[in-house]
Amino acid sequence: MRPFKFTTAANPASAISYLSKNPKAKFLGGGTNLLDLMKEDVEYPDELVDLGRLNLTAISELSAGYNAGGISIGGLGKNTAAANHPLIRKNYPVLTRAILAGASAQIRNMATNAGNLLQRTRCSYFYDVAMPCNKRTPGSGCSAMEGFNRMHAIFGWSDSCVAVYPSDMAVALSALNATVKVLQANGTSRSIPMDDFHLLPGNHPEKENSLKPSELITSIELPKNKFATHSAYLKVRDRNSYAFALVSVAAGLVLDGDIIRDVALSMGGVAHKPWKAQKSIKALIGKKPSTANFTMAAEAEMADAKPLSHNKFKIELGKRTIIHALELALKGEGTKS
Ligand code: SF4
Repeated sequence: MRPFKFTTAANPASAISYLSKNPKAKFLGGGTNLLDLMKEDVEYPDELVDLGRLNLTAISELSAGYNAGGISIGGLGKNTAAANHPLIRKNYPVLTRAILAGASAQIRNMATNAGNLLQRTRCSYFYDVAMPCNKRTPGSGCSAMEGFNRMHAIFGWSDSCVAVYPSDMAVALSALNATVKVLQANGTSRSIPMDDFHLLPGNHPEKENSLKPSELITSIELPKNKFATHSAYLKVRDRNSYAFALVSVAAGLVLDGDIIRDVALSMGGVAHKPWKAQKSIKALIGKKPSTANFTMAAEAEMADAKPLSHNKFKIELGKRTIIHALELALKGEGTKS
């Protein structure tokens, strides 16, 4: 690891000012991904600005604003605290399930909610500094394109990058139409819809989200949840713990008798960002909640998948995972925790 300066921010404004003054500085939250990247020489900030003293950890109900009736989750709260908070367990069980499906208990105890959104791909070529990687070194090439790409994308990839985004929490936040609140360098706040926060790779896979330089994530807001009764998070992976998703699905249904009135559906492990399954959602609204309709909706989404040489299996796996997640949501399985 290269030498770096360690600075402690006293408040959000001072944290932002440190990054404004030094473009090579980075915020340090829980450090569960950044420190690994620094040890591997993938990232080498010359200054870390520790955010550990900022009072941005609260989880509270929102009484006003666009998300009134929903909740605010502090950006610097820990993943474990979010997963276990009574408001989230009761009203957003799919988020609890998604967070607890990620990493290990030890990592969730350290990782922050904002840091979870900012974690970087686990593409093995990205971590191997001896290999070309457009995300790590723009213009150097993509080793995964013709390499071992079993874990990689089937939606939204480009000739520059075929990596997938690794967070489970973000898949549930996408399904629930969360908003990311950030503090800007000029002292004002702005809101970024979750589905606009992460970017597809295009020609610039090194640019992974829509944050501007030195912006600080202060909180994540969730609208009042319509899906608490019928929701589920289903993650398929190579082993049952401490593994990233081959495919995951956050699903929710709003039923009116035996008609589906609204659908929440996002996928993980298939794209450079949480993948909102728009075609499935459109196909299900107004239909009866049956396995035949779930299958029809899953096939509509997966028809657009473009697999790589080693991940064709993700098309059938994605279809089955969508169907099963919707069946679990219908039974209310995701509400049991
Ligand atoms: Fe790098 Fe993306 Fe290619 Fe992986 S898929 S080697 S992260 S450019």
